[in-house]
Amino acid sequence: MKIEQADRLKQLPPYLFAQIDRKKAELAAKGVDIISLGVGDPDLPTPSHIIDRLKQASGDPANHQYPSYEGMLSFRQAAADWCRGRFDIDLDPENEIVSLIGSKEGIAHVPLAFVNPGEVVLCPDPAYPVYNIGTLFAGGEPYIMPLLEENGFLPDLDAIPAQILTRARLLFLNYPNNPTSAGATLDFFSQVVNFAGKHGIIVCHDAAYTEVFFDDDPPPSFLQVPGAREVCLEFHSLSKTYNMTGWRIGFACGNPDAVAGLGGIKTNIDSGVFQAVQEAAIEAMSSDQEPVAELRRIYKARRDLACDFLRKKGFSFSVPKATFYVWVRTPEGLGSARFVSRVLQETGVVLTPGNGFGEFGEGFFRISLTVNEDRLKEALDRLDTVQW
Ligand SMILES: *Cc1c(COP(=O)(O)O)cnc(C)c1O
Repeated sequence: MKIEQADRLKQLPPYLFAQIDRKKAELAAKGVDIISLGVGDPDLPTPSHIIDRLKQASGDPANHQYPSYEGMLSFRQAAADWCRGRFDIDLDPENEIVSLIGSKEGIAHVPLAFVNPGEVVLCPDPAYPVYNIGTLFAGGEPYIMPLLEENGFLPDLDAIPAQILTRARLLFLNYPNNPTSAGATLDFFSQVVNFAGKHGIIVCHDAAYTEVFFDDDPPPSFLQVPGAREVCLEFHSLSKTYNMTGWRIGFACGNPDAVAGLGGIKTNIDSGVFQAVQEAAIEAMSSDQEPVAELRRIYKARRDLACDFLRKKGFSFSVPKATFYVWVRTPEGLGSARFVSRVLQETGVVLTPGNGFGEFGEGFFRISLTVNEDRLKEALDRLDTVQW
């Protein structure tokens, strides 16, 4: 029997990292010491007090049964308290917060709750691919909003045609941004609130990187803007903040009807997050936040190393104020894929080609600062040997 995949899988854009994965495997087989500055997965371990809480909570039989789909009230309360402490916003844990199996899960599922086949989702490009793919899986039509350097990598909402806006249901945003590392101001968010209210569009703000910042001025939540709760569902993740990518926990918060819609999908698809993991997340959010400050110091030192090198070599980029990524223009005339594959071939250093995040990422590459300083220095020394 020939197993045919459904059109929703077959229609997916080509996997642009396949060639790099192949070359990486080829070099590794030859014994080349590969340094990956490719993936956005923190190299540092989860703080030990969080692990201890999991160990303890996993022994409690009450945690061995199905959790509630929306998350334990104590988890949602801890998330609300964390949001109040960090952003000075008030969320009702009863109906304005839902737990997620990592924020990716919620982002992928949210179009199923609000987008009918043929309706439009406004998706940034370059971007985290899940906005686009979640839309396609729901039968929606992604409308690409280019994030251009001259606009500070913010979408130009005025450029979206009226006939698109009448069909648009969701707008995805992500600040601080992966892959560009750009930030957004409250003033921009405020414009988006007006825009969304006017056109009846739900703003889905991916806030995965609000805690990875290097300024005195921490990145805002979209929900800080007056009126935001009318239009916004914000996705928070513990993955990058507490080095918990493997644990799979996050939450969505904001407009209660939006929270209920996403919850309605989830209750029919998954059965929530293992309660011991929720308890560990409560520990992460409620305890002393010094480990997060330490994490920021570590990424900042790496950022400075990478940026000093890039500056010295004459690359064009902005010094990131947040995220653990540096978004850099490829040397004159070189396409993203060619540049990255040449660097890998000559040095064993893996970079991410910008076009892997969409067509408007072409002409850029992304450096991920998720290796220790020694490895990063080694990677930069190797990059120094490449002629372009
Ligand atoms: C890492 C990342 C996420 C996913 O985080 P999880 O909570 O681990 O699912 C979401 N959005 C962006 C932009 C990311 O880079």
